[in-house]
Amino acid sequence: MSSIFTKIINGEIPCYKIAENADFFAFLDINPNAKGHTLVIPKKEVNKLFDLDEETYKGLMNFSRKVALAIEKAVPCRRVGMTVIGLEVPHVHVHLIPLHSMQDMSFQHKVNLNDDEFRSIAKNISSFLA
Ligand code: 5GP
Repeated sequence: MSSIFTKIINGEIPCYKIAENADFFAFLDINPNAKGHTLVIPKKEVNKLFDLDEETYKGLMNFSRKVALAIEKAVPCRRVGMTVIGLEVPHVHVHLIPLHSMQDMSFQHKVNLNDDEFRSIAKNISSFLA
């Protein structure tokens, strides 16, 4: 069965998309730690980060870097933090989180955003990738 993220890539489940190329896809986390919290995934469905083949791993890091630089321009923050967990969704995903304090990396503190806010953040980040 396809992962929830493969369904997002295929457009079967909606998302606030940031960017896409042939191998990778970036979109906003639906339950963000901070405004602009983004997930970057390989289209190839693999459960664990370090099980990726080397080319896909490096490609994911390069793509994540581009997205992180765009987040930094679009979202006021001290820096963009990166983490990989994957305990909830068994499809590799890099969390890119605009940081104001250490608390933003804790996954305990969440922010509520409405549809308009999600749309506007996604559009804003995307504009710096164009
Ligand atoms: P992890 O697997 O790294 O522990 O966490 C999975 C992350 O994916 C969580 O931050 C969660 O909010 C996010 N997530 C889970 N389901 C969806 C979804 O359907 N859409 C989006 N955009 N994010 C999701």
